[in-house]
Amino acid sequence: MNYSKPFNQEIKTHHVNEVMKKILIGISILVFSSCGDSIKKTEGRQLNEDVTFNAFKERFVLRLWEIYPGWASSQGYHKFDSVLIIPDDAQRKKELTFCDDNLDSLKTFHSGNLSDNNKIDLKIIEGQLNSTKWYIKNYKSYEWNPGEYNVCGGFAEMLANDYDSLNNRLRNFYSKMRNVKAYYETARRQLKYPTVEHTRLAIDQNLGGASTFDADLKAALDKSSLNVNEKDLILQRAAEVKVIIGDYARFLKEFKNDNPRPFQLGKELYAEKFSHDIQSEYAADEIFQKAQAHKEELHVKMFALTKKLWPKYLEGKNIPSDSLAAIRQLIDVISLRHVAPDSFQLVIERQIPLLVNFVTQKDLIFLDPAKPLVVRKEPAYMAGVAGASISSPGPYDKEGNTYYNVGSFSGWSKQQIESYLREYNYYILQILNIHEAIPGHYTQLIYSNKSPSIIKAIFGNGAMVEGWAVYSELMMLENGFGNNSDEMWLMYYKWNLRSTCNTILDYGVHVNNMTKEDAMNLLIKQAFQQQAEAEGKWKRVCVSQVQLCSYFTGFTEICALRNDFRKKQGTKYNLKHFHETFLSYGSAPVKYIKELMLNSANR
Ligand code: ZN
Ligand code: ZN
Repeated sequence: MNYSKPFNQEIKTHHVNEVMKKILIGISILVFSSCGDSIKKTEGRQLNEDVTFNAFKERFVLRLWEIYPGWASSQGYHKFDSVLIIPDDAQRKKELTFCDDNLDSLKTFHSGNLSDNNKIDLKIIEGQLNSTKWYIKNYKSYEWNPGEYNVCGGFAEMLANDYDSLNNRLRNFYSKMRNVKAYYETARRQLKYPTVEHTRLAIDQNLGGASTFDADLKAALDKSSLNVNEKDLILQRAAEVKVIIGDYARFLKEFKNDNPRPFQLGKELYAEKFSHDIQSEYAADEIFQKAQAHKEELHVKMFALTKKLWPKYLEGKNIPSDSLAAIRQLIDVISLRHVAPDSFQLVIERQIPLLVNFVTQKDLIFLDPAKPLVVRKEPAYMAGVAGASISSPGPYDKEGNTYYNVGSFSGWSKQQIESYLREYNYYILQILNIHEAIPGHYTQLIYSNKSPSIIKAIFGNGAMVEGWAVYSELMMLENGFGNNSDEMWLMYYKWNLRSTCNTILDYGVHVNNMTKEDAMNLLIKQAFQQQAEAEGKWKRVCVSQVQLCSYFTGFTEICALRNDFRKKQGTKYNLKHFHETFLSYGSAPVKYIKELMLNSANR
């Protein structure tokens, strides 16, 4: 499976029974809601098919965790924590058999007899299995991406998350280390023509993560109540692991790589990866065209606002004839309005209730008051990842807290802090809170957890999730958030340019061989980003593909769906109803939600 998604879930305990209970509740509602003789027969058939399909899903997921124990742990299923899979031919063969067997099983179900929820689950599973086959047979990153081999993250999570007693976690840690040697031997044997960029990253990340087996482990051992013998055995094996990781890094540094693979994916592989990862109704090149057109539209709107706002901020100064240069100058001035570094978290905390009030007053979507969002300073092990992020409980811990992690500026230079605060200025910070919290990721997550599908929880569609957050920014402004001020709209357009240009950059680099120089021009001149931010984005696009498109693609699809839905519903159309219906399907690909929503709008 493609489990390269960044790990951002906090898992405390796992409640398999909770999930099962919810599935059963779902079924009982179906039983009691059947009324009238004429439809009883169909409901009966549907019920049967759903019962069989639910049982299939349960078996499927358990088997999935056996084959991918590392992924299971990251989702909060800890039965296989002590297992480290060796990613060799035998394992891939096992995975392919798993895919083929389950694709066969899926064919025995009649989609028409399934509930809407299960209809989508069936398609999601099918898509995932086909995607896995493609990754193994066509993408073959095990031959060219040395970064795929890194055990540190999985071990680090075992130390950081207290889903089980520390002693148990440490014993599993010990057992899991047994396979590290064979794991890296396989890595060396399989790498054929690694890209220079992924090799560099793999060296950094493996060496960077190695402290897990040193200082981090020692700190955990000190806190544990294991006896001296056990502690010694663990430390001995960990010392060996550190050496093995160091050897792997050296092996990569010395790799005789006369013919490295270019990091650009190329048109064909890119188009296929796009369709597997994003699951959009649009093809990659269509989305690229749309992004380019959208960028031009944004520039026109931004220049109109710039001309309007110029006298207010830059009175007496001549407006440059180059429209992009003019926009940039104005943005630079407006960005000076920002919070003080030490009140960054406080301001975010204060904004959340204001967003809740706005959404409620404007009747945009129902917000469950029973589930407050906890704003906190980002925990140490996440430090340096991003300025702000959401940590949600995994599928086995639905009652767990959701955190809004706010980065601290410790270790940053004054200059870096100032640049960051200008980027996340007074206006953008509010848009960021919409995106991350309300009604963006956090709200979507609560709706998604109400849909009792472990399949969607595990295989949540990134384009839908990011698309919703990006859509919610526009929707809030459309409804007057920020008093419809020109400054707010200008900054919103700048923010929206970021996801738009992410798509142009990703496709441009991987398909059209865009140079670094052109990429910098795009990000700095045309999307008004800071040099440091643009450099970071260039690094990211060299080692990832397609993911950068998820924001704009999901956004475009949701906006289009809203239009279609409004047309179909006519006078019955209501924005709140659209939002609640859309989110009720869970984190599924927009194209599947669209099919069901437009069908039901017809009824
Ligand atoms: Zn300042
Ligand atoms: Zn997001």
